[in-house]
Amino acid sequence: MSTVREVVSPVAESPEAAPLVPRFEKQGYDQAAVAARRKWQEEKTGHSFKHIGSHSIPSEQMRGNIENPVGAVQMPLGIAGPLLIHGAYAKGVFYVPLATTEGALVRSYERGMVTLTRAGGITTRIYTDENRVSPVFLCADVAAAHDFASHLNENFSTIKEQAESTTRHGKLLRIECQPIGREVIVNFCYFTADAQGMNMIVKATERACQWILSQSHAQTFYIFSGLSSEKRGSGSLLSGGKGKKVVAGALLSSPLIGDYLHVTPTQLVELWHHTVLGHMQAHTIGYNAHYANGLAALFIACGQDVANIVNAATGITNFELINSEQVYVSVTLPSLTVATVGGGTALGTSRECLEMLGVAGEGRALKLAEITAATLLAGEISMAAAIASGEFVKAHDDYGRNRPEP
Ligand code: NAP
Repeated sequence: MSTVREVVSPVAESPEAAPLVPRFEKQGYDQAAVAARRKWQEEKTGHSFKHIGSHSIPSEQMRGNIENPVGAVQMPLGIAGPLLIHGAYAKGVFYVPLATTEGALVRSYERGMVTLTRAGGITTRIYTDENRVSPVFLCADVAAAHDFASHLNENFSTIKEQAESTTRHGKLLRIECQPIGREVIVNFCYFTADAQGMNMIVKATERACQWILSQSHAQTFYIFSGLSSEKRGSGSLLSGGKGKKVVAGALLSSPLIGDYLHVTPTQLVELWHHTVLGHMQAHTIGYNAHYANGLAALFIACGQDVANIVNAATGITNFELINSEQVYVSVTLPSLTVATVGGGTALGTSRECLEMLGVAGEGRALKLAEITAATLLAGEISMAAAIASGEFVKAHDDYGRNRPEP
């Protein structure tokens, strides 16, 4: 017998009469306003939201992170490790906080981490560290666009000065023109220190664009052209430029692969080979088993902008057979956006999870990037092994089912 209750529709009789969410004084961030807004929603829907109302983040601290607050959602949080990393920034053993509702996920990452750690650890390195905004300028015709694009870089030092006048940490590294017809997209590439940086660099870029507009024959500009691939997949992400380019790799011996992953080196590499074809058939951008799983769990735990998973989950996982006995495993993440300052990183649980990894605050973003890459590598080898050994479905049956009672 169904126990589902009908939800009282909050939709009023006419579209014009549908009430707005209450704002209250100063946009309603004090505890009483948040409770009143939640009550308003409870009355509309006929449901009680006691879990949503039970949170330890002071509601005033939510300002700048959310509008119309009614409380907070909660996710189960687990830890996976040990994860031994030999990075340029992350050095030592880590236990990684992962927030998820997917049973089997933490166990799987843990298995990969234990395997990699017992193998001697994971080496991580960072190649590039930047983020970008790509406004588009409109010109009268192709000749004007050509003139605009040909001379823009002559003023780079002033454009840089203009952009950096709005931020203490953001540094404009270069600008690149990409003309299309009578439009010129200008790719502004920045170093953003420990912040993800989008608020920072969009503001900086707008200031620079206003100066460019005042000095050129361009007719107008739009701050976003779509080229930057912020929060959307694109082939350009595989070449990097949106976030940090991070690589993680490790050498696994045959006995370890047998003991912890229950496969042989050949089985692991053959699985990789045969699934590359499927990726090609699907036109995926790069190749990976499930970067999004580890990224989502780590991003939610650590207060990252979760929508950046779309760009960050781009990359290439590689398994190579070495001397028939060993496998070199690696992940290459060309567009990883992570932060230890700004955005949601200072909120209660986020801050604590960053502290768990020793990456809260200034000077730690590259360390977080290396930990993220090492975590994803663990997920890649564990998932591949589960598929190659035929244990994948059983593992989810053992750990990951929550069927509602019939
Ligand atoms: P933010 O929280 O808006 O600002 C962080 C600020 O922290 C920086 O601007 C910087 O100030 C300051 N800061 C202090 N110490 C720093 C350090 N060590 N390294 C770097 N910065 C430091 O964060 P954001 O990273 O610029 O933006 C991320 C947020 O933007 C996310 O929450 C995301 O949801 C949102 N977002 C915005 C857009 C957009 O188009 N505006 C797009 C996507 C996402 P100074 O600049 O003065 O140095």
